[in-house]
Amino acid sequence: MAEPLRIQQLDDRTIGYIAAGEVVERPAQVVKELIENSIDAGSNRIIIEIERGGFDLISVGDDGSGIHSDDLPLALNRHATSKLTNENDLAKISTLGFRGEALASIGMVSQMVISSRPKDQAGNSIAMKDGHRGELEACGMAEGTRIEVSYLFKNQPARLAFQRRPATEASKIVDIVVEHAMANANIGFKLSNDGRIVLDIPAVEDASDRLFDLLGGQASNLVTLEKPDDDEQAPGDERWSGWISTPDISRGRGDDIHILINSRPVAAQPFLKAIRRGYKTRLMQGRHPVAILNLRLPNDEVDVNVHPTKREVRFKHSWRVLERLERAIAHTLANIPTQPEASGGIAPITGLAPATASQTHNNENRPSWAINASSQLSLEGAKAETHAPVARVNRPVSTSPINQQTLTGESPIAPALSSAERELHRHAGQDTERPDQEDPLGAIINDLPEMEPLSQFADSYIMVQSENELLIVDQHALHERIRYERLRNDDSLWTSQPRITPIPIELNARQLAKMAAAEDVLSELGFIFANNSQKWCITAAPNLLTSASVGPFVHDLLLDLSQDGGVLESVEKVKDELAFMRSCRGAVKANEKLSLAEMRRLLEDMRRIPNPWACVHGRPTAMRIPLDALDHHFGRHG
Ligand code: ADP
Ligand code: MG
Repeated sequence: MAEPLRIQQLDDRTIGYIAAGEVVERPAQVVKELIENSIDAGSNRIIIEIERGGFDLISVGDDGSGIHSDDLPLALNRHATSKLTNENDLAKISTLGFRGEALASIGMVSQMVISSRPKDQAGNSIAMKDGHRGELEACGMAEGTRIEVSYLFKNQPARLAFQRRPATEASKIVDIVVEHAMANANIGFKLSNDGRIVLDIPAVEDASDRLFDLLGGQASNLVTLEKPDDDEQAPGDERWSGWISTPDISRGRGDDIHILINSRPVAAQPFLKAIRRGYKTRLMQGRHPVAILNLRLPNDEVDVNVHPTKREVRFKHSWRVLERLERAIAHTLANIPTQPEASGGIAPITGLAPATASQTHNNENRPSWAINASSQLSLEGAKAETHAPVARVNRPVSTSPINQQTLTGESPIAPALSSAERELHRHAGQDTERPDQEDPLGAIINDLPEMEPLSQFADSYIMVQSENELLIVDQHALHERIRYERLRNDDSLWTSQPRITPIPIELNARQLAKMAAAEDVLSELGFIFANNSQKWCITAAPNLLTSASVGPFVHDLLLDLSQDGGVLESVEKVKDELAFMRSCRGAVKANEKLSLAEMRRLLEDMRRIPNPWACVHGRPTAMRIPLDALDHHFGRHG
C-alpha cells in the first residue's frame, strides 16, 4: 500500500482560490457581490454592464461612499472589510457584506480593476490580475466606485468547463439585479447586456412604484399584504409587508416568490410552507403564488452568517416569524371576495368510495358493493359542504342499499376537490365541446365490452348496459378523461400555428432574459415571438392554445424553463398541465342534458383510452353494479 498523503499548510494564494470556490462560482455571483458592495456604500444609482453573460466583462459602477485611496490595496486582501471590527458585530449585521472576501476572491480568478473616488478626494485605481496585485494609479472619475471584472475564469479552465451558456447566465444576472431592485426601491438601477439596455429604473420613494417598474402590468395582479388588526399586539418586533397574488393567479413553480429580509434577498424555500398554509385550500395542488414579501426585524434576531452566499439565514424565533406571515396572508385573502358560487360544478361527494379491502374481506356474507355506514356519514358531510351547488342539496339522496364499486380493483379514489379545482369545474362547460363533434380517437385499446346507453339520470349520470353489468357513468368525469387523452396524445394539437393577429404579451426584464435563454425550447414547443416597435407579441403558438390562454401560459412556461437542465422534462410537464386544464374546461358538465348520440359517443371513446376508470383528478368515472349482485339483492338466487 502507498504511503498516505501528508498534510500541508496551504499558501495564501491557494486559500484565495478556495474562497473563490465559495462565493465566486459563476458570473451571476460576481454581480451579486458587487451590487451588494454598492448598496452597502449607500449608493443612489448603480449601473451594471455585462458582456457575454458576464464571462467577458462585468462592470458595476455606483455613486456611493467610495474607498479611501490608502484602503484600496487593502480591499483586495482576504478578510479585509470595513463592515466589521470584531466578532460582536457579527451578531447584528446591518450590511449585506461582512466577510471581506469577495473582492479578493474575484481578483484571483479574473482581471479586476477597482477605481474609486470618495467625497473630497481624488480618484485612484488598482488592478488585480489572476491574483497579482498592481500599483495604485491616479484616475479621473466622478465620486463613487467602479469595479470592472474581465475574463472571469479564463485562467481556470476546470471551472470554465462547468459554466452555463452566456444567455442562461445573463438571465440569472437579471434575476439578481431584479431581486436587489425589489429590495431597494430608493436606488436606481441600470443593467445592460452586450450594449443593450435590459433594465433602467429610477430611484423611487414608494415601493409599489418599483414593483410596477419591475413587473409592468403584471403587478396589477398582486394585492398588498395586509395585517390582521391585532398584529401589532402580537409578541415580536418582526413585521411583514409586500404583495401576494390572488388565488386565481398562480405558477407551476415557486420561483416567483421573493423573500427579502431587512432588504436582503434570501432563498424562499424555508417560507414556502407558511405561505401555502396562508392560502389554505385556495391554491390548486402543485401551484404556487406570486409574492414579494419583505420582512423587517431587529438585526440581532436574524443570523446571516450561516452560508457563504448568505442566501440562507437563521431566525431566533422562526416559528413566530412564519406564523405571522401565514396570518397576514390568510387575512389578506379573506378580504378578497370569493368567486361567485355559480352552479354547474361538481360537488365533492367523498362518500362514494368503494368499501375498503378489509371491509370486504371481513364481511364474507355481504356482497362487496353493500353499503357501509361510513359512506352515509360522508354523504352527510358532503351535503353540509357550503360549496355544494344549491341544486344538489335539494336533490333526493338515494337510500338504495347499493354501494358503489369502481371498475377493476383499482379504486381510483382521490381527496375532495380543492376550491381551485372546484372553480375550474364550475367554469367547465362554459365552452363545452359536444362529445360527438370531437375528433375520433384511434382503435379500441382496453378490454371494455361494447356498451349501450340506457338513459341519463339527473342529467349528470349515464346509465349503461355493459354486458352483465349496469354502469353508472359520471358524464363530466368521463368526458374530461377522454379529452385529456385526446389532447395529450394528438400531435397535431401541439403543432405550431401562425396567428393572423399577433397576440400581444407583456414581458418584464426577467421574462425577456429567460426567453432569450430558452429560445430553442420555446420554438420546440411551437412559440414564435416578435418585437414590433418595442412591444412583444406572439406570432405562432401551439394549436390548442386559444389566443386568450397564450399569455398566462407563456408566463408560466418561462418560469419552468428557468430551471437549469430538466428542460425536456419540463416540456412534457407543460404539455401535461395544459392538457389537464383544457380537458376540464371543455368537458360536458353535470346537470347538462346529453343526446343519445352524445352518450353513445362518450361510451365509444371510453374504449379507446388507456385509463378509462379515473378522471384526471383521480376520481372514478364509473360505478358498476353486476347483474349477479342485483339478482342476489332481489332474491333471485334461490
Ligand atoms: P465585504 O463586503 O464583505 O466587506 P468585499 O471584499 O466585498 O468585502 O469588499 C471589501 C471592502 O471594500 C468593503 O468592506 C468596502 O469597504 C470596500 N468596498 C467594496 N466595494 C465598494 C464600493 N462599491 N463602494 C465602497 N466601498 C467598497
Ligand atoms: Mg462585499
